[in-house]
Amino acid sequence: MRLLIIGPQGAGKGTQAALLCEELSIPHVSTGDLFRANIGEDTELGRRAQGYMDAGELVPDSVTQDMVADRLAQPDAADGFLLDGFPRTTAQADWLTDFLAGRGWSLDAVVLLTAPDEVLTERMLGRGRADDTPAAIATRLELYRSETAPLIDHYGDRVVAVDGVGEIAEVHRRIVDGLGLGSTRRG
Ligand code: AMP
Repeated sequence: MRLLIIGPQGAGKGTQAALLCEELSIPHVSTGDLFRANIGEDTELGRRAQGYMDAGELVPDSVTQDMVADRLAQPDAADGFLLDGFPRTTAQADWLTDFLAGRGWSLDAVVLLTAPDEVLTERMLGRGRADDTPAAIATRLELYRSETAPLIDHYGDRVVAVDGVGEIAEVHRRIVDGLGLGSTRRG
């Protein structure tokens, strides 16, 4: 399957994406993780992204889209993938549609993970990431509302909205059910 997972920071996207990818045997393609890996390895790409990430701002589309194109061209993504953190704007979504169409691909579904603001804030304060400063958190939340939330309408009936509040396994089960997959792991 070719999937996206979207939702505000702190909704649990990373955790749920990892579980879903394990279940479906598809790669988890997180643009935030790819940027962080590049920063860790001090690559040219990492150096270009760092300032934007520290501020909670979007890395320019040209940089981000090249990185996604490279990743989705890897053999392990040939039969499916779950994109996490991309697209974050309708411009990125349009680019993705064209990129996928060029390969004869399209998205099967978009998982939208939701949670109330209090839960989001609490989870973010607990994760201790380098770019989780109050200013960067506020900027990311504002960008989510203005730039990313419009993707929900953009993807229309491909969106599967899932309540992200609850035990990790329970939320996972909701996602699997929402995608109509039926789970073998209902623990
Ligand atoms: P995340 O791990 O998804 O919260 O992403 C961390 C940071 O990486 C973001 O605050 C942005 O600076 C950058 N980033 C991740 N994905 C994108 C994207 N699709 N477009 C632009 N910047 C991104």
